[in-house]
Amino acid sequence: MGNLTFAIIKPDAVKNNYTGLIYDRILKAGFNILSAKLTRMSLAQAEGFYSVHKGKPFYNELTEFMSSGQAMVLALRKENAVAEWRKTIGATNPADADSGTIRKDFATSLGENAVHGSDSDDNAIKEIAFFFSDCELISNN
Ligand code: UDP
Ligand code: MG
Repeated sequence: MGNLTFAIIKPDAVKNNYTGLIYDRILKAGFNILSAKLTRMSLAQAEGFYSVHKGKPFYNELTEFMSSGQAMVLALRKENAVAEWRKTIGATNPADADSGTIRKDFATSLGENAVHGSDSDDNAIKEIAFFFSDCELISNN
């Protein structure tokens, strides 16, 4: 069980001005932010990041959406971070997300669902490395 995960505040949530409210959820849930930056992915970057979904029916829509505007990418630390963050964000489809989760409260739709979370420790490491260099990951203690 690792202590790192990777999060994205997706373009729908940034456009809807939910960045601050989602930051508040991150901090209240006890995550330590090791790094964060506002970026705008190119289509090629979004395709690379989501290459595991290549060939799925939602892939083109997903990569176009993820490159459609600003997104906030974050490296988060907490004990059991992957599972803890997925619990905080809720189910992929906001219609199925538990009350009090980020997707329940801030998602627009199944595709535009406000936030990303890694699905395993290995992918968390890979996804953090996709956007951050080691020297950008800053410990607070
Ligand atoms: N997605 C979609 N339609 C689907 C499944 C997924 O548009 O039927 C999008 C949605 O934005 C989701 C992302 O593709 O967050 C990645 O899908 P995944 O199954 O990995 O869900 P997640 O890990 O984000 O909960
Ligand atoms: Mg996933």
